Amino acid sequence: MKFFADTMLGRLARWMRIMGYDVEYEPSIDDDEIIRRALEEGRIILTRDTLLARRRAIRGRFVFIKGDHLREQLHQIVERFGMEEERFLTRCLRCNLLLVDVVKEAVRDSVPPYVYTTQERFSACPGCGRIYWAGTHRDHMMRELSLLFDEGRGD
Ligand SMILES: [Zn+2]
Repeated sequence: MKFFADTMLGRLARWMRIMGYDVEYEPSIDDDEIIRRALEEGRIILTRDTLLARRRAIRGRFVFIKGDHLREQLHQIVERFGMEEERFLTRCLRCNLLLVDVVKEAVRDSVPPYVYTTQERFSACPGCGRIYWAGTHRDHMMRELSLLFDEGRGD
């Protein structure tokens, strides 16, 4: 399942990537280009734009995102498409590409010395080369994510 988020859904796209969803997003792209690329790449369009949603070309190939707030938006996605925790943090947040595991020795010169000595597992983005590891940033994102979902319970 692949997605293309419209220009109003940057935050949603980022958090979906954190959760491992395949989501394309570009901050400045026009509707025609979103439609062209989504159809070409077999992506479901996520949109808040009623005009875009009315376009005939995307009939049956879009999800209208109802909520104004990130939490509601993520809930809508998860209710519809599910969520797999083992896919969390497996994707580059910048490029949307799947990360690949890299051996520790390969990142010696690319990460801070403290990180190198305290971490054992690293992964890298095959597109931009950014290196990812477990640690405070990851912990922080997981906490934010659980908050986003806990707050939603009961409403
Ligand atoms: Zn990347």
